[in-house]
Amino acid sequence: MAEHILIVEDEVNIATPIRTYLEKAGFDVAHALTGTDALRMMEERPPNLVVLDLNLPDIDGLEVCRRIRAVSQVPIIMVTARDDDVDKIVGLEVGADDYLTKPFNVRELVARIKAILRRAPVAAQPIGGVLSHGTVSIDRGRHEVMVAGQEVQLAPKEFDLLWALLEERGNVLTRDQLLERVWGYTFAGDTRTVDVHVRQLRRKLGDACPIVTVWGVGYKVGDDASAA
Ligand code: CA
Repeated sequence: MAEHILIVEDEVNIATPIRTYLEKAGFDVAHALTGTDALRMMEERPPNLVVLDLNLPDIDGLEVCRRIRAVSQVPIIMVTARDDDVDKIVGLEVGADDYLTKPFNVRELVARIKAILRRAPVAAQPIGGVLSHGTVSIDRGRHEVMVAGQEVQLAPKEFDLLWALLEERGNVLTRDQLLERVWGYTFAGDTRTVDVHVRQLRRKLGDACPIVTVWGVGYKVGDDASAA
């Protein structure tokens, strides 16, 4: 069955070509004109991925993203007309998986959708097992992270990023390697997404799992869990 994509975009002249292109690429596409419609349509028919415009006439796209995240781990690609780093960072912080600035090439959007969907089932399948580090344990099957016995809520990409860092514990991963492993492709040099997610992980995990910045190279989690 074709994968179902929900486009949330109030501008029909932007949504229509995206829809046409996605349908040609074999996706089953629905289009919501407002945030309210999007949330209703999500409930009626859960999509495999959401393309979410930031500027909507009723509910702000960031708020729509937050509300989706409260009930679903569905991948979200956020789209905005503003090339504003603050929006971008906030968008990723409220749980978007990826981000595109208008005007963008529809082929680029399709490439990103495919990359995300290729990877999404990996996290969804109960195949991953458990990694632990000090008081932190991450269970891929249950999609659960515990710190000292307490569950910590991570966004999907934060989860995948923590998994990658713990799997390679002791080794440095470059930002490009992390983009490749966690997002499934590289953003042509835009590695700020990795930094934002690392910051969120640090905030949520604190001293239980120190993520070390290796200046000019990337990030790592040390071998030694005694700090935890
Ligand atoms: Ca708009």
